[in-house]
Amino acid sequence: MAGEPQADCLFCKIASGEVPATIVRETETTVAFRDINPQAPTHVLVIPRAHHPDAASLAAAEPQILADVLAETGRVAADEKVDATGYRVVFNTGSGAGQTVFHAHAHVLGGRGLNWPPG
Ligand code: IMP
Repeated sequence: MAGEPQADCLFCKIASGEVPATIVRETETTVAFRDINPQAPTHVLVIPRAHHPDAASLAAAEPQILADVLAETGRVAADEKVDATGYRVVFNTGSGAGQTVFHAHAHVLGGRGLNWPPG
């Protein structure tokens, strides 16, 4: 059923505490933790606790939780003090766009200059 934990999902295991992560924020519906392979001085992932394979499917099934994820990206940026200088929120969607973990997640990147267009 949509949203239920998946036994083979790394981010479900991080959300449940089964796999350790450096957690920076938690809410009833979301968890934010540091990316294990950071691409910027601030690189935090914000996930819904509920399992949905990508941001679009989360938006379709549980739009309020996608709003919760987005609100948390702003709070992470403020906590990390990158909100004043600028930061990027990225939802890689599909393997062709670089998605490797198929549990919806927002990357929050900041603390250095970020080029546009991205690679
Ligand atoms: P994606 O490539 O957009 O799917 O992002 C997945 C992200 O998860 C990558 O940036 C990985 O570095 C990160 N990642 C993979 N495994 C872990 C982990 O165990 N802890 C924290 N981040 C992870």
